[in-house]
Amino acid sequence: MSRESIVVVGGGISGLSAAWELSGGADGPNDRTPRIELIEDGTVVGGSLTTTHFADRTIDLGADGFLARRPEAVDLVRELGCSDQLESIDASGASIWLRGALDELPTGLALGIPTSSGQLKNVRGLSWRARLDARRDEHAPVRMKVGDDATIGDIVRTKLGRELCYQFVEPMLGGIQAGRIDDLSAKSVFPALLEAARKGGSLMRAMRASGPVAPGPSATTTNTGPTFYSLLAGVGSLPIEVARRLRDRGVVLRTGVAVTALRRTPSSNYPWEVDTHATTTPADSVVMATPAPVTARLLGAYDPALARLGAVRSAGAAMITFSIARSAIQLSANGTGILVPLGTPWSGDGSLMITAVTFLDRKWPHLRRDDDVLLRAHVGRIDDLRWSEMSDELLIARVSAELKVILGAFGTPNDAHVERWPDGLPQYYVGHETMVSDARAAAAPLGVTLCGNAYDGVGIPASIGSGRRAGRDALEMLHFSYR
Ligand SMILES: Cc1cc2nc3c(=O)[nH]c(=O)nc-3n(C[C@H](O)[C@H](O)[C@H](O)COP(=O)(O)OP(=O)(O)OC[C@H]3O[C@@H](n4cnc5c(N)ncnc54)[C@H](O)[C@@H]3O)c2cc1C
Repeated sequence: MSRESIVVVGGGISGLSAAWELSGGADGPNDRTPRIELIEDGTVVGGSLTTTHFADRTIDLGADGFLARRPEAVDLVRELGCSDQLESIDASGASIWLRGALDELPTGLALGIPTSSGQLKNVRGLSWRARLDARRDEHAPVRMKVGDDATIGDIVRTKLGRELCYQFVEPMLGGIQAGRIDDLSAKSVFPALLEAARKGGSLMRAMRASGPVAPGPSATTTNTGPTFYSLLAGVGSLPIEVARRLRDRGVVLRTGVAVTALRRTPSSNYPWEVDTHATTTPADSVVMATPAPVTARLLGAYDPALARLGAVRSAGAAMITFSIARSAIQLSANGTGILVPLGTPWSGDGSLMITAVTFLDRKWPHLRRDDDVLLRAHVGRIDDLRWSEMSDELLIARVSAELKVILGAFGTPNDAHVERWPDGLPQYYVGHETMVSDARAAAAPLGVTLCGNAYDGVGIPASIGSGRRAGRDALEMLHFSYR
């Protein structure tokens, strides 16, 4: 085996995917495969993907499913030989809480954007004004000059009016990364929307013509098959399986150790030294799969474009999972969950904290039991940190009270679990794409590649794709030496 050495920093699904690619991907190692060491700060690999035992099942505490219409996650699962673990989502549709009642979301929306005014006909919680705005977009669309980028909020508000923008579209689109659509870049988060706006006519018609869409800058989609997958042992089993297979391939996996410094050592045989509190690993090349601010802290001294990654903000959120007797809850007839617009008033303090409810055991058959219901409430946005000030007990009580209002009945749960994700979801603001390409251009001559959910999209498929590309690029650098 070659004595070339690559270190991967960060063992979330991006870093693990990079290591998978570095160790030969689907084909496995060969005689040119370098020594690979992956260093992860957490006590286990996986980052935002993790499971626990709850109410007699294994449940995901972070991501619980991934888009099936992007290929990256499905491909990785297949390469691992785990296709039998894939489980298709078993429910469709969702509801939205508008003016104190639940409305079913119409079918045919494009990531929350209506594609015809007729779709809104039965959404009782929308005003006549919102319906008129939708019809105007079809028949006399508002003119809007769109440059290289714009916020999603600018586009949707201008074209479809305030109510549709904030009450109807934001709950889904902002929810994907717990952000505000007035801040999020259309180019980076929802390029199909930017393209549709650029056409200049009806936004809804243009979205309809663009076909199935997925979030993220490098999204390619297919039209067939299920929309989402989970895994029978939980999505959190994916990083564990990748790690097991990497160990089998001879990759050195270290957990519970943070990388504390990256040092250039141009006079040594290896151009980098990667420090933890107790060790130094020499490396030809480094793959950074850490959150952007960590990458900026470790590498910012080498180039201002890398230091600028420190400006990437992340939103926090908390997930409160409940098991509750079927007899103690009232549920709509179908649908995977409920969306709640930000700032929705209710009978209690302030506005509703819940931004979404997921019916876990409706989505995933392996979680279904006869006598209880498993559901998860999501709270928190980039500008709503109320959850971070509350104890688990208070949060469970507050969310239970809100669920009683939204669902109509929500008795005492059998069990509840609070999981907090303080910096889980990076925000892609206008200019993000340029910041990322500048940072990558600065990193490449140093023999460093960048991957993770701060760069190429926040979803699991995008993160896997980002990691694998970084792995491929690192191998290329090694073989066509950058030194
Ligand atoms: C609550 C929540 C729900 C989500 N739901 C979904 C969903 O349903 N579907 C979907 O597709 N996506 C979902 N996502 C998004 C998706 O899970 C993540 O974007 C993806 O898992 C990110 O992977 P990553 O490896 O890029 O980052 P991370 O998982 O954040 O991994 C980064 C790793 O770097 C490590 N690290 C940090 N500093 C250091 C250091 N100095 N040295 C060594 N290691 C370090 C961290 O410990 C961490 O493990 C969700 C995210 C969250 C937070």
